[in-house]
Amino acid sequence: MTEYTTSSQVLTRRDFLSASAGAAILFAVNGFPAGALAGEIHSLPPLPYEDNALEPVISANTMGFHYGKHHKAYVDNLNKLVAGTELADLSLEKIIAATVGQPDKAAIFNNAAQVWNHTFYWQCLKPGGGGEPPAALKQRIEASFGSVDACRKELAAATTQFGSGWAWLVQDGDKLKTVKTGNADLPLSMDMKPLLTIDVWEHAYYLDYQNRRADYVNAVLDKLINWDFAAANLGA
Ligand code: MN
Repeated sequence: MTEYTTSSQVLTRRDFLSASAGAAILFAVNGFPAGALAGEIHSLPPLPYEDNALEPVISANTMGFHYGKHHKAYVDNLNKLVAGTELADLSLEKIIAATVGQPDKAAIFNNAAQVWNHTFYWQCLKPGGGGEPPAALKQRIEASFGSVDACRKELAAATTQFGSGWAWLVQDGDKLKTVKTGNADLPLSMDMKPLLTIDVWEHAYYLDYQNRRADYVNAVLDKLINWDFAAANLGA
């Protein structure tokens, strides 16, 4: 976990060690092979707010399923898939790098990338978000898009892919741009630095918005998007 290079890091080394110790005890009780105990145990990081904190834009019900079931399942699946393999000792980012674009490792890549994406996504939202980006980020946005409004429109346009995926604001060299990815894919595997993301899998909005993806995206951009987090991710 110390491999994280963005300020999106939510697990400190101490958190990680205590989570690992807890997980190791569970694994031992459940009779996992001893080899698994030597591996990196990936854990579900705590949400950065209460599960009802994003209401009414995102309900506690959605959070219960999205974080408590979907995100957790990606973590659990990843731990099962890498146990006893050459990937067991690697950090999340190294697993992503080692499995991207390899059809025979797709299940591991998908679960690892979805763990990373969701941990990042929760931090991209906050109660009382939206509004104007901090000055340093605003300048960078204006230099790349012309205006904050134009950036917002491009980000919203990046949420219109067919099927499941993610819309991203990224830093690519000196320039900021938007990227859309399908399924679990993420800008790390394209050598770009993610600043923000919006989850546009149906599980992110269906309980609250049914098929109205654009309403969910606009509500997130108006009321929840965490520009401070994006600003903290900006590189020099
Ligand atoms: Mn999701």
